[in-house]
Amino acid sequence: MDQEEFESWIRPLIPVSLSSETLEISVPNRLFASWLEENYLDLLANAWVEANGRETSFTFTWDGGGMQGELFQEYSSDHDKRVTPKRNVNPSGLIDRYDFENFVIGPSNQFARAAAMAVSQQPGSLYNPFFLYGGVGLGKTHLANAIGHAVLQNNPEARVLFLSADSFTNQLIEAIARNKSVAFKNRLRRVDVIIIDDVQFLAGRDRTQEEFFHVFNALYESGRQIVLTCDKFPNELEGVAERLCNRFGWGLVADLQSPDTETRIAILERKAKAEGVELPVDVASLIASKVDSNIRNLEGALTRISAFASLSGRPLDRELAAELFAGLAQDEPKVLSLDDLERGVATHFGLRTGDLRARRRTKKIAEARQIAMYLMRRYGNASYPTIGAHLGGRDHSTVIHACQCIERRRREDAKFRHILDTVSKRIGCV
Ligand code: ADP
Ligand code: MG
Repeated sequence: MDQEEFESWIRPLIPVSLSSETLEISVPNRLFASWLEENYLDLLANAWVEANGRETSFTFTWDGGGMQGELFQEYSSDHDKRVTPKRNVNPSGLIDRYDFENFVIGPSNQFARAAAMAVSQQPGSLYNPFFLYGGVGLGKTHLANAIGHAVLQNNPEARVLFLSADSFTNQLIEAIARNKSVAFKNRLRRVDVIIIDDVQFLAGRDRTQEEFFHVFNALYESGRQIVLTCDKFPNELEGVAERLCNRFGWGLVADLQSPDTETRIAILERKAKAEGVELPVDVASLIASKVDSNIRNLEGALTRISAFASLSGRPLDRELAAELFAGLAQDEPKVLSLDDLERGVATHFGLRTGDLRARRRTKKIAEARQIAMYLMRRYGNASYPTIGAHLGGRDHSTVIHACQCIERRRREDAKFRHILDTVSKRIGCV
């Protein structure tokens, strides 16, 4: 983890007691404990094993409460009342609070959410598989769970199974070791809706992929709904067999983008309300402007600031927020030179730089030219006439048309958006 994370989440931990199987750690408050539990428990556990050669369970306590590692088993005052951690009380494996209701809608996720909703209303028949992709912490796991919840709401008898690709792998390995792989696969084939989270973790695991391929086919052919999440576009999954990647793209591919400021504020407010934190509007917008990487970090920032407020006994106000986030500079939009952008686009599409300026107009060149215009407008901070002049003396109305056209395709077509993202990244726009 980086220094900043360490200072926020590890430095404040105080070891309190150690018995043969439990390490008790004191933390500032309950929110802090849930955050640790959700995000750093594995890391802590691994670090412990590495340092001490054996496992321990963790108990987080704070003034007035405590929480045992593994699951949110709270035991208020009576510290001796040990509860055995239990996982997954519900057999579907779905995470409770990740439902549609708690999912804040914004332009960055509107399409994916609408598609997810549609899938949950007609599982198996509309978009199969439903492939949801996007960067870390943008809501893939949340949305995938929401589908499962909605299916169950419509039909409580439905057999829904949520599994991370990792636990799919682990369960498979275990089943094989215990000679139960047939039973394992049969169990999977009986579900109505299967949700596999983070399929990128199948990369390089040939045996797992092989088995998953068969499960996929069996489910697909019998019209069961398959939902997959991934941090990449299907075709870009390295280390995953082509026939699998291929199938991943058969149905609908939808992506989650980074939320804009309004959506970030709305998410913060929703979260604060759920946690019973009084969050003034100006503080929400300050946090939203400072933390724009992903939603998990956004939630982390809220947890951090409320922990800080309660630790220091200060009110959660703009002053406190400004202090806490002073180190985080607001991101300045990058400005690139038109030459760089032109060269970058041309290289990406395998063209010569001059091609974009020339009169020639194959479909490929025309598209690349439009993309160049769009990027010049967006990242080159140039006016329409300047862009037109730069690209072979074209009229500004041509440039406006190109920008609108690309913007529309970007909104409506996930595949195109992906291409655009790839070009932009490559050129260094984002
Ligand atoms: P991913 O699986 O893409 O890494 P998650 O689904 O785990 O991301 O989301 C990270 C956190 O952000 C979760 O706590 C989730 O509830 C929250 N989150 C993501 N998107 C939204 C949204 N649109 N509205 C409310 N909370 C969201
Ligand atoms: Mg996830």
